[in-house]
Amino acid sequence: MIKRLTHSELREMWSDLGMNLELHDQLLESNSRLFKKTHLWQKKRPAAMALFDRALHDSHGQRVAEILDYRNSGGKSVGTFCIYVPDEIALAANVLTIPLCGGSGWSVSYADKMLPRDICPLVRSTFGMALSGTCPYKTLKEYPLGETTCDAKKKTWDLFGIPAMEVPQKKNKEDKVLWISEVKKFMGDMEKISEVRVTAENLRESIKRCNRKRAVLQKISEYRKLRKPPISGLDALLISQVALNMDIDSFINAGNELLAELKARVDKGISAYDNDGVRVLFAGTPSPMGYAKVHWAAETSGLQIVADESCTGIRYYRDQIPENLDTVDEMVEAIAERYFKIDCPCFSPNKERFDNISSIIEEFQAEAVVHNILQFCHGFNVEAGALDKMLKDNDILSLKTVCDYSEEDGEQIKVRMEAFREIIEGNRNQETE
Ligand code: SF4
Ligand code: SF4
Repeated sequence: MIKRLTHSELREMWSDLGMNLELHDQLLESNSRLFKKTHLWQKKRPAAMALFDRALHDSHGQRVAEILDYRNSGGKSVGTFCIYVPDEIALAANVLTIPLCGGSGWSVSYADKMLPRDICPLVRSTFGMALSGTCPYKTLKEYPLGETTCDAKKKTWDLFGIPAMEVPQKKNKEDKVLWISEVKKFMGDMEKISEVRVTAENLRESIKRCNRKRAVLQKISEYRKLRKPPISGLDALLISQVALNMDIDSFINAGNELLAELKARVDKGISAYDNDGVRVLFAGTPSPMGYAKVHWAAETSGLQIVADESCTGIRYYRDQIPENLDTVDEMVEAIAERYFKIDCPCFSPNKERFDNISSIIEEFQAEAVVHNILQFCHGFNVEAGALDKMLKDNDILSLKTVCDYSEEDGEQIKVRMEAFREIIEGNRNQETE
């Protein structure tokens, strides 16, 4: 644990990292203004959320100092853009994965220097930060590591000369063989950069640590099944976003503190919401740190997001890895198996996602689905048609929003959420008449 840096020490660090301080100030100001708007209106937040609020603010400050310190003592790191990259293997080789997906609307236009405007805002925000000199992680890694999940990303890797793991597009036997070989190659690459061999001992230990982190997220999610959820969808999203950046052990400790408070709130009947509202499942593209527009629009309109199937929700922490395996080979196969279950629309067909969504709706007693698609994400957008049909066949109402990271359409989306809630409540009333 390193000492907390003062504001002037942080500025010195950013300057040493070659960042553009003036633009970085603008980015921080924009992020913190937005955070106040999207999260701090909530009156019944658990007190332990302060730990996650601080981790969010630390993501460009104290967390950077921690990683710098780790690297100065010989630690290695790689930047990542997707939850397919197996953290367990990197950690076993003493390599830290730093998720780099951008969620800030502020940086999107800075991507114009290199990328077309009509691609997904997640990719543009990420590279806009790098190109504007406001990403503190730009030099804090051996290299960024992409993956072949969508066209926007694949072609961006080519443009910037970024290596990529091959994620297959189907889930047949031969695709699994390919995926296992990619995971093994990833292990070799991690061992090479850190000069640390992955052994049965260190791999088993990292599997346990990653399982513990997912277990915390799963337990928080369990509380959202209750009729009076002690935590909001907005705060649950923040926790998932922060989980990707925060030091793993600090995250587990903060999560356990929150869990104790959630238990106490449930015992006292304290909900995060003022009234019963309408329970919805959030589905669709990920919401990287800094982006919570649709969650905000939904929860300020009387919808309660009780589950989130996205990569910043259940998809990130659903599956665990057995801890009782003996050899590195067995563990690597189990890791590959776990990550191969991820139900991203980059797979075709993607029946698992539909089955998972049906189960989540049932388990969390969601009355409807809000699915949000980041603009130009064709995989999620086209798949939404089949998903809507499946929901309709099961008498589940759904609302699809397609948007970017800008703030302009926030109120418009809110109006649609309010109308959606009224329709669901109207249906409820008809059923009871
Ligand atoms: S949506 Fe697909 S590509 Fe994006 S982070 Fe999730 S798994 Fe990776
Ligand atoms: S949201 Fe869609 S288009 Fe954007 S990076 Fe993820 S998979 Fe690709």
